[in-house]
Amino acid sequence: MKQPKLVVANWKMYLNVHEASLLANRLGKKVQSHRDVEVVLAPNYLCLQPLSREIDHHKFKLAAQDGYYIDEGAYTGAVSFNQLRELVNYAIIGHSERRRYFNESLDEVRDKVAAAVRNGITPILCVGETKEERTQKETKQVLHDQVVTALSNLTAEDAESLVLAYEPVWAIGANEPAKPDTIAAAVDWIRFQVRELYGKTTESSIRVLYGGSDEPEYVSGIMATPGVDGLLVGRASLNYERFSDIITGVHLAVLSEDKTVKA
Ligand code: PEP
Repeated sequence: MKQPKLVVANWKMYLNVHEASLLANRLGKKVQSHRDVEVVLAPNYLCLQPLSREIDHHKFKLAAQDGYYIDEGAYTGAVSFNQLRELVNYAIIGHSERRRYFNESLDEVRDKVAAAVRNGITPILCVGETKEERTQKETKQVLHDQVVTALSNLTAEDAESLVLAYEPVWAIGANEPAKPDTIAAAVDWIRFQVRELYGKTTESSIRVLYGGSDEPEYVSGIMATPGVDGLLVGRASLNYERFSDIITGVHLAVLSEDKTVKA
């Protein structure tokens, strides 16, 4: 059976508990369930427990925005994947904001990916080059290093359910997303890395998302890009109407893809 597409709302460090509940409630009323689209909300840690009680779990799943790679111990301020496992199905790992502002290294991202998997949480591993790296023609090297290091402690079986998100840093919080041919080339390269590590079967079972200035008007173009299985959405996910339109757009993209295959 074909896996559903995936749409992830990254609420970043926005919204307090009350605001997050309100937004989840509005989304619950507005968003239609589609069997072909899985919707995941990633609020801050504080909101995970209340939201897990309030949301319709047939409609939404929850993700953490991060997690610590050691399961338990004297690590003041940290929250481990072991503590998150009862609350979330997914965890965003290696987001460029964590790599940049919290100095997360390739090795730390690798350990977080392994810790999430060990605790039954599916990693949404974010990879992507900065503007400077793109200008210096280092995109392929950067993506290679980020993917290969992050997955280096996983077996093929662990890797099968993985989600990767191509998030070019220069397209996050920008005026428009990367162009479909830029996304296609990067996603193809990311998939090639997974194929080289684990073979074709694993590569075809992972889902690769695109993230960076997704808005409803760009969804059909991005979703028509070969190898793209969904979207990681920042700003637009804080607005229930725009986010709901994005989800509908992804569903319509699946319907039109199915029609093209049948024709
Ligand atoms: C993000 O930071 O993951 C992201 C995609 O942000 P935005 O949609 O705001 O560009």
